[in-house]
This record gives sequence, C-alpha cells and structure tokens, in this order.
Amino acid sequence: MNLGPLKVGKFQLFPLSDGSFRLDGGAMFGVVPKTLWNREIPADEFNRITLALGVLLIQTPRGRWVLVDTGLSSKYENNPKFKKLYAVERPETLREHLDSMGISPKDISLIINTHLHFDHAGGNTEFSDRGVAVPAFPNARYLIQKEEWEDASHPHERNQASYFKENFEPLDLAGLVDLVEGEYEIEPGLKVLRSGGHTRGHQCVQIESEGEIAVFLGDLIPTSKHLPLPWIMGYDLHPVDTLEIKRETLKKALDENWTLIFQHDVGLRSAKLDFKNGRYAAKISY
Ligand SMILES: [Zn+2]
Repeated sequence: MNLGPLKVGKFQLFPLSDGSFRLDGGAMFGVVPKTLWNREIPADEFNRITLALGVLLIQTPRGRWVLVDTGLSSKYENNPKFKKLYAVERPETLREHLDSMGISPKDISLIINTHLHFDHAGGNTEFSDRGVAVPAFPNARYLIQKEEWEDASHPHERNQASYFKENFEPLDLAGLVDLVEGEYEIEPGLKVLRSGGHTRGHQCVQIESEGEIAVFLGDLIPTSKHLPLPWIMGYDLHPVDTLEIKRETLKKALDENWTLIFQHDVGLRSAKLDFKNGRYAAKISY
C-alpha cells in the first residue's frame, strides 16, 4: 500500500509495506477475549489475523533517505513451510515500492530497526547468488538498540522463534551496525525512543518539524485496534512495561496532536488520536 507522502514539517514520510502475513489472533491480543478482538479483526479458519509488513520510508530535510524496518524480503520465498505457517503474501514488495519511486537500495543511508524480529528485520539482508545472506542496503548504517542486539544474539526459548541470525549477523560482519542506548537524535527532528515492553530493546521513531510530530510505533502499538491500554500483545516479553510506556506515549500523543503510524495495520497506516468514553481510539485516517 502506497498512500503517498505524509508531510511532517520539512520531513516527508512514506508508509510502505512489504506485503502481509498472519499471526495467531489470541497471541496478538494477549488477555483480551476472542469475543472482543474478533469483532475488530476477524480471524481466519486457523485463528490467524492478517497484519501488514509495514515499513516507513523517510526523506529528511537534508535529503537523506531513511528506512524504518525492512519487511520480510524475498529470502523466504523458497521456504513453503514458513510461507504457509505465516500465510505470507507479497503482491507488493518494499523493493518494488522503492523501484517505482526511482530509489535504489544504494540510495538508502540509514536503516532504523525497531527491533530484530523477522517481520521487521527480514529485509535487512538478502541472499547472494551463492545463497549467503549479505546486507541488502550496502551504503546504509543500521541503527539498533544495544539491548536488542544482545537479546537477538543470545535468544532464549521464549523469543528464539522470532530471531533469525541471517537477518542481523551479516550486518555486523560488514561493520554496518551502530548500537545506541535509549533516546538518540539522528539529525534535528529525527530521533529514536527506546520503549521496551515488546522486547527490552524495542524502539519507536519520532519525527518532529515545524511544530508537528509523528511517531512510528513499531510493535509498541502494532495496529489501531491495539490503542486501548489493556489491548497488549501476548507476544510482549514485558507486558506491564508496555502498559506504562503506552500510557505515557498516548497521553503525549493526545496532548500534542501527534500523528501515529501503525506498522502492522492493514487498513489504517496512520491516524491522530481520540479519547472517548475513557478509551483511546484512532481519529482521522489519511
Ligand atoms: Zn511485529
């Protein structure tokens, strides 16, 4: 889905996608009963819901091209088991979106990974002709929280199904990784904010210019249906941390009229926030 640029002051944002996949609806909504979430996003016959493989392309006022996350890539096209398990559909790909905009992978100067789960970092690398994973954006630095890198490199039984080494080890071998800790400003108006919650090192991206603010939420609030405070993913490793950072983030978003960008929402890529009857919801869609 390419809905054209979203202007935030001097920044141009392009919410793109690398297709879609499906995850268990129960796992996506944690303690929320199916009778409630199924009204919002109906499940398929395997209890899965469809999620966008969202990617945000940013053109900064300095003319740099920045990507937030990289989708899944074509690395798993020849893995029928994976494609079936996650019902991967890529009628449109990140690569095609960039091509259609006249942007080559070599033009991307920075990749920000919200975290290193395969649905966010899969396109960090691609297979060479010899079947070896190599960086897909050879001129880009890859900006990742230090804790995320440590956890992805040393996964445990609860998170190992989401971390595939081929999505991040080749970046380190090529010397392209920049690890940061906590809030970090990349250039004026563009910064990462460590949120924790989903993973210890999960980060969101804030774009601020000329009095306007947009935030790419990553897996802190993956879809607009996750705006109510207790609607938190069962996948989150630290759900109570998610709750507290959500409370803080959404209060600011409402007070300062932020544009929120939802990475996994198939129908609504961005919206302003509303608070009605004690509950947060999306207000304006673009
Ligand atoms: Zn995700």
